Amino acid sequence: MRRRRGPRSAYDRVVVVGAGRAGVAAAEELRRAGFRGEVRVLGDEPSAPYDRPACSKGLLTGHRRPSDVRMPVLDGAEIDWHLGRRAVHLDPDARIVTTDTGERFGYDGLVIATGARTALPRDWPVGEPGLHTLRTLADAWALRGALRDAQRVVVIGAGLTGCEVASAVRTLARDCVLVDSSPYVLGRAVGETVGRLVTREVARDGVQLRLGRRVTGLNRRRRGWLVELDDGDELLADLVVTTTGERPDVDWLDGTGIDISDGVRCDESLRVLGVEGVVAAGTVARWPNLRYSARPRRCAQWIAALQQGRAAAHTLLAGDREVPPVTVVPRFWSDQYGLRIQVCGELPEHAEVMVTELRPGRRDVARAGVLVGYHDDGRLVGLVAVNAPHAFTSITRSMLATTTVTVPAPAAAPVTATAAVPAAAPAARRLAEAS
Ligand SMILES: Cc1cc2nc3c(=O)[nH]c(=O)nc-3n(C[C@H](O)[C@H](O)[C@H](O)COP(=O)(O)OP(=O)(O)OC[C@H]3O[C@@H](n4cnc5c(N)ncnc54)[C@H](O)[C@@H]3O)c2cc1C
Repeated sequence: MRRRRGPRSAYDRVVVVGAGRAGVAAAEELRRAGFRGEVRVLGDEPSAPYDRPACSKGLLTGHRRPSDVRMPVLDGAEIDWHLGRRAVHLDPDARIVTTDTGERFGYDGLVIATGARTALPRDWPVGEPGLHTLRTLADAWALRGALRDAQRVVVIGAGLTGCEVASAVRTLARDCVLVDSSPYVLGRAVGETVGRLVTREVARDGVQLRLGRRVTGLNRRRRGWLVELDDGDELLADLVVTTTGERPDVDWLDGTGIDISDGVRCDESLRVLGVEGVVAAGTVARWPNLRYSARPRRCAQWIAALQQGRAAAHTLLAGDREVPPVTVVPRFWSDQYGLRIQVCGELPEHAEVMVTELRPGRRDVARAGVLVGYHDDGRLVGLVAVNAPHAFTSITRSMLATTTVTVPAPAAAPVTATAAVPAAAPAARRLAEAS
């Protein structure tokens, strides 16, 4: 017998596809909002939902085990879990999701939260021993095991995941070479100024950097791998870890009429365009985040996935009723090489960049603490902090409360000493040149 109290809703049965951060948040929020119908969550990974960011951090170094990174789920939420099944087809007219096990799940409301999967160049020998990718708990655990016997590791891709993997490899006292086509690490994630500062710390930690280089060949050797670079250099490795990118997991939506070019196209409230009773959330959702722009884009971050999952649940329960747009301030963190890196907001290329050193004059600017503000039209739209957690928290609090935060005057800033300067000014140039 189904209880029918709670908010008025057109739905009795909700199916959530994807048991990651966004999917679980949506399922929990349906219950929090009082939805009394059936909530079924389908996930293709066999494990209970877990904290994916841990895959490139504590799980690799051995500081955390799989049981430590389970995602807590709302007590008593009465969620019907169907794990280890992959959705392979959606019939949006009949409102049925079919899985690779041949099961059919009827729904009144559907949440698409299938995230992203690893994307590799077509000709790379995926699945060969010693060549690892890193996306899932199973990937992380397999890599952790392989690292025990490896002495020399090549990491391809110096984005957030690649840099975190290299940091873990060094923590385990293995040799590590990090390859990327960019001249500095973390460029897309934290911008050039901080990217160059962190590059120095990565090198200081003993990681051998091959920056501005592309991989042209990956060849299996009797023992390990030979990685060829575009400058003719060849790197021998026991293990290769590729972290070169991801693409939205949308193949199962082929033929539905849904726009799946770079994720699932949604309106500003996360309703999927062109189909009834369907919302999307998390990395897979491409929507106009009206806080910044009307151009639909994806946001591949943990906190955004949580917020979108919750918001998508409310949009679904609202049926055809109007709901406010779902806006998100991009935010993420990373711990590597003894640096706590935190980012909030957007880092547009055209923005004016202001650098504030916490301890001016120190050569190890990043380690000593630095804040980099991105200003667009006089407004603070993005902030990157390295080893400046207190200042980051207090400034981002105002950024989250309003979109029109201006730079804190040096004297008022919650830091020991500051020198707020535009990027073109000598101090900022010095930062860039020193790295
Ligand atoms: C190694 C790593 C480290 C990261 N570190 C950070 C970090 O430090 N900070 C941060 O902000 N973000 C980090 N991220 C990004 C963050 O994990 C993602 O933004 C977040 O997990 C997105 O949540 P999601 O629910 O949208 O997608 P996902 O977490 O990808 O979950 C989607 C789930 O759906 C499943 N699925 C896919 N297709 C189907 C299907 N057809 N049927 C059934 N199930 C399906 C997938 O297997 C997956 O379990 C990291 C990501 C990785 C890979």
